Amino acid sequence: MLRIESIKDGTVIDHITAGQALNVLKILHITPYSKETVSMVMNVSSKKIKRKDIVKIENRMLKKEELNKIALIATNATINIVKDNKIVEKYKVKIPDVVRGIIKCKNRNCITNLEEIETKFKLESKDPLILKCAYCEMRLDTIEFL
Ligand SMILES: [Zn+2]
Repeated sequence: MLRIESIKDGTVIDHITAGQALNVLKILHITPYSKETVSMVMNVSSKKIKRKDIVKIENRMLKKEELNKIALIATNATINIVKDNKIVEKYKVKIPDVVRGIIKCKNRNCITNLEEIETKFKLESKDPLILKCAYCEMRLDTIEFL
């Protein structure tokens, strides 16, 4: 049994699809230059899903809105908000109806690729995942990050 050190305060993202931990950090805008203490475990065996990644961010309570974007790449991810060594909130991520920023529109002529405009996508289908650009209406079935 693998033990992962627990955190006193912060956010634990569990049941991330194996291999997606780095993309999760990207979605949350956490870089090597961020001040947060981040621990990451990759490719752990799990009962729920065969293999999973776990990300722990200390001393930062992330907002639901921010965390739900993780569902775009890891539908089974669960969020645990920890305060004083106790889980005070636990929920499963849900794909947001509108996604602003983070994703790039694949249409080269889309205004979001030509000007400094934040991308905006509307969720058209969850399974399979299809997002529609709010500007040029192009449909995306694979995600490319900005
Ligand atoms: Zn577009």
